[in-house]
Amino acid sequence: MDHLQNYIGGKLVSPVSGEYLGNFDPSTGAVYSLIPDSDERDVESAVQAASAAFSEWSSTSAEVRHDILMRLAALIERDLEPLALAESVDQGKPVSLARMVDIPRAVANFKFYATAAMHTANESHDSVGQNAINYTLRQPLGVVGCISPWNLPLYLFTWKVAPAIAAGCTVVAKPSEVTPMTAYLLSKLCIEAGLPAGVLNIVHGLGPKVGSAIVAHKDVKAISFTGGTKTGEEIARVAAPMFKKLSLELGGKNPNIIFADCNYEEMLATTVRSSFSNQGEICLCGSRIFVERPLYERFKRDFIERVSALKVGDPLAADTDVGAIVSKQHFDKIMSYIELAKAEGGTILKGGIQHSAFSIQHSKGWFIEPTVIEGLPHDCRTNQEEIFGPVVTIMPFDAEDEVLGFANSVRYGLSATVWTESLSRAHRVAAKLESGIVWINCWLLRDLRTPFGGMKESGVGREGGFEALRFFTEEKNVCIRI
Ligand code: NAD
Repeated sequence: MDHLQNYIGGKLVSPVSGEYLGNFDPSTGAVYSLIPDSDERDVESAVQAASAAFSEWSSTSAEVRHDILMRLAALIERDLEPLALAESVDQGKPVSLARMVDIPRAVANFKFYATAAMHTANESHDSVGQNAINYTLRQPLGVVGCISPWNLPLYLFTWKVAPAIAAGCTVVAKPSEVTPMTAYLLSKLCIEAGLPAGVLNIVHGLGPKVGSAIVAHKDVKAISFTGGTKTGEEIARVAAPMFKKLSLELGGKNPNIIFADCNYEEMLATTVRSSFSNQGEICLCGSRIFVERPLYERFKRDFIERVSALKVGDPLAADTDVGAIVSKQHFDKIMSYIELAKAEGGTILKGGIQHSAFSIQHSKGWFIEPTVIEGLPHDCRTNQEEIFGPVVTIMPFDAEDEVLGFANSVRYGLSATVWTESLSRAHRVAAKLESGIVWINCWLLRDLRTPFGGMKESGVGREGGFEALRFFTEEKNVCIRI
């Protein structure tokens, strides 16, 4: 069985403990590889390697950083197919999705920040009347920590690592222990690309052991974290008194608001995607669907019909729309929320059950049928708490102010989708939604230059564009008397 290794100081190494954890294939429920059960000793050697590399890397020209990151992007592109297969087996997502979205986005992340590094400019202020000029240096922070979740493994891992390295920082990174495979494969590509030793270090293992050791390490200057709100809280509790910079991308409970004047066909097709892509395990999926009453019954009928046509099955099959749930633990959590929805008085219109075995090989896999629930009030637990699976609720509404109240009633504020052909309503509603990202008549349309992140308990700070490069640098103002 494959033993994954840590990537420290430019080398693939075993964990100090010599211990390994099982890595599961969610479509079969079987362990198919082993990952290092690292601890604070591995984190310590990764921080030392990153500290040793910092002086040289931070003074490397933007051109050189650009060239290395572009080489890495080209190698990921070259290996798109094996990486997509690896992501699908490790995470349970349809391989078609990994091929179309996850791996191309990892390529785009490196290309975007490789080129961004070549186009950064610092401000200067001509202090006329004071005979002075000010200029602002943006200097890389030093060693930084990047911690990522399991839902979009390589996509989100590289979304943090690429800007950190491009900004001149050196990195100690931890992918999710639930989906470590593509980060491990990336470490091999880093060696092939000629990334200098210690610039990126990848330590595998459990969150409370490896993640918390990175967060608590005195020489790690900043933490860029994506994951659950509860974990974010814990990280903030440790990092804040140490005055570390923090970027936290956390959970969500996103509203999808459908007005009766929408472009119906486009809304319907996109709403199926925004509900069930990646088994609903995308932080941006819309899990609360509010439909203006005149459209409600028609939407309900057509939506159920489309959802019924989704094929749940082997993640590696070309025609699979919905793959396996990432872990047994997460499978149990989602099923418990379906039970809660029933107990709260919800009616299951579709799904609500484990998908029946479609092959002997997959009989122990974790599959859930896409689930649509109605009849629940906006303020019940099912509609307030993050489920993060193939489960949506549908609810009718009568007025714009009413639906804004429903949408904003949760503690989260990551993204929202609005469907309307009325230009003025679109602007009005977008301005009033408590949400870091608002999509009007579209979903998951991403321009990497835009600020990405949530408000309320969905996070602190923004990723994307120059925002991320700024996060990994410290501003220093220099004032010169002329
Ligand atoms: P998680 O919080 O359990 O784990 C995320 C990462 O943190 C993992 O690598 C984990 O090992 C590590 N970790 C766990 N405990 C830690 C600790 N005490 N200290 C440091 N690190 C620790 O989240 P998850 O279950 O992997 O991911 C699902 C969550 O991520 C959902 O809530 C989802 O909404 C959120 N998410 C948010 C975004 C966003 O951009 N806002 C994107 C994707 C996922």
